[in-house]
Amino acid sequence: MSLYLEQIRQLVQLQGVDDEIHAVEQELSKAPQTVERLTAEFAAAEAEKAKCDDKMTLLLEQDKRVALEIEEDDARIHKSKSKLMQVANSREYQAMAREMDSMEKNIHTREEERARIKEAIKSHTEDVEAANQTWETLKQALEEARASLDARMAEARAKLEVLEQRRAHAGSEIPRPVLERYEFIRRRLAHPVIVPVHDGICDGCHIAIPPQAFIDLQSGQKILNCPNCQRLIYWSEHFSGNTGSTAPDAADA
Ligand SMILES: [Zn+2]
Repeated sequence: MSLYLEQIRQLVQLQGVDDEIHAVEQELSKAPQTVERLTAEFAAAEAEKAKCDDKMTLLLEQDKRVALEIEEDDARIHKSKSKLMQVANSREYQAMAREMDSMEKNIHTREEERARIKEAIKSHTEDVEAANQTWETLKQALEEARASLDARMAEARAKLEVLEQRRAHAGSEIPRPVLERYEFIRRRLAHPVIVPVHDGICDGCHIAIPPQAFIDLQSGQKILNCPNCQRLIYWSEHFSGNTGSTAPDAADA
């Protein structure tokens, strides 16, 4: 294998390790998203639950107040009834009877109010149950997501450590100036660093290489950059059966 092809092979191999590192880093950056989303949803569910509970407290207080008022009115009527027995003249009797009549109407109004409150409590009970159910479900989902996130993060970090070792090993084979070119691009450009050129098109930016550059690339004399995206490029035909940037087989090994 020519020196050129050997260096391309080494760089592509290094890129293969970097592909894996890139995937793990993506995983690490995306992993907390589920927990973040669930945290927000849980906070909203908690606010809704508190609102429902407050409304229920208010309804129960109203019910208690009206029940107490009905009780007081009942007691008053009862007292009036016993007084009525002792009334001497009919004028006084009629006045008291009218008063009792109005008290009974009052009680009737309050009982209607109480029935409305009871109905509201009944229908709100369903809202409270639904809010509690949502709250409970999200609480559990959040706890599970947190636990699995910790596990995933730990696993990803362990994987990274192994990959960094493989990376150091892959890099150690590459001549220093070539490796420095690779690292220079890696620090400045979006993943990946070295890409194949298929049918004159750069795999990194999907733009055609100028004809002369493509001829130079095919001659396989020195490592070229894509004139458009600046990534390192190699001719796909130099490696058989290779369509991507990961670990190609050398055609003329
Ligand atoms: Zn390009």
